[in-house]
Amino acid sequence: MGKYKYEIHAHTREVSSCGHVPAAEAVRMYHDAGYRGIVFTDHFNQEYFDRLGERSWDEIIDLYLEGYRAAAGAGRALDMDILWGLELRFTENGNDYLVYGMEESFLRSIPFANRLTIGEFMELVAPEEGILVFQAHPFRDGCSLADPLVVHGLEVHNGNPRHDSRNERAAETARREGLLILSGSDFHRPGDLATGGICLPRRVRTAGEFVEQVRRLDWDSLILKEGSLCG
Ligand SMILES: [Zn+2]
Ligand SMILES: [Zn+2]
Repeated sequence: MGKYKYEIHAHTREVSSCGHVPAAEAVRMYHDAGYRGIVFTDHFNQEYFDRLGERSWDEIIDLYLEGYRAAAGAGRALDMDILWGLELRFTENGNDYLVYGMEESFLRSIPFANRLTIGEFMELVAPEEGILVFQAHPFRDGCSLADPLVVHGLEVHNGNPRHDSRNERAAETARREGLLILSGSDFHRPGDLATGGICLPRRVRTAGEFVEQVRRLDWDSLILKEGSLCG
């Protein structure tokens, strides 16, 4: 088990309409809760794009990364490792996917990636070995389990207190299917702070370093409740 705590599922007020906490404030809160870093995964879906009005794909990406950039500035001052990912929802259904390890240039090269199916998207990312895709809270109402042969892993613990994510079912499924595992707080509000996360043996400065360690996570490395300690 690693000793550095990381949040891997967090939203900013700057980007997610449901996010209540500004990015820099979230970084301070996680710092004070003993975390070493955060991967921000703001909502990346058609609803978000619609709110932005008529925009080019490049403008959408610029706006999407604003939460992350604000967090990164705050993170430098506190020696926190700040990365970005996506909570991606395709137009095909209500499932959400946590995507890690993307290069900004790669994201810019697939306009309206959300209009693909999960299968088409996974074919696109397959040659990019540094990208990992996890289904978020697969057993929450409105979600349906994706084909376990298609995704890399499942978020087996989602700490969000306003939803029943049926985490036990996600955990059972990941074990049965031999999938990669993650735990996240799904941070939107102060009360969601540090209700999930992971413990890593080494600090991560880049998305590549993050993905490399996430591939090797075991069950003992998951933070399953507030106040969990890393070894
Ligand atoms: Zn949300
Ligand atoms: Zn979320």
